[in-house]
Amino acid sequence: MPFAKPSPEELERVANEVLAVLRKQENHPLARPQAMAFLQIERTAHAMAMAISARLTAEALAAHADEAPDHALCPNCRQSWRVTRKKRTVLTADGPVACHEPAAHGIECRCDFFPSASAMATQRTPV
Ligand SMILES: [Zn+2]
Repeated sequence: MPFAKPSPEELERVANEVLAVLRKQENHPLARPQAMAFLQIERTAHAMAMAISARLTAEALAAHADEAPDHALCPNCRQSWRVTRKKRTVLTADGPVACHEPAAHGIECRCDFFPSASAMATQRTPV
């Protein structure tokens, strides 16, 4: 299914669901904002959103890596090489996210390539 940017209504629906779960927790970081200054409220809310965003990104990258093939054609020599997962940290707008990026190494051509990146580039849709 092609990527479709979420609509403002969809984002609002998701936010409402997350907030409904959060409001059920008596001790979440913003449960008692009366004792907090505006800056503390703003920074805490932003930190919570960043943590959620980083987790969503990590889970999406993991799902993407799970779908990567076991072998991929090298873009240079056109031979099939085994795809492994290389642990790396991606710096996102919401902080560092650990992932296992699918990567292949052509033994004869000594070429490193990333099948997921090339697949994503061909499927990329403007945001
Ligand atoms: Zn190659």
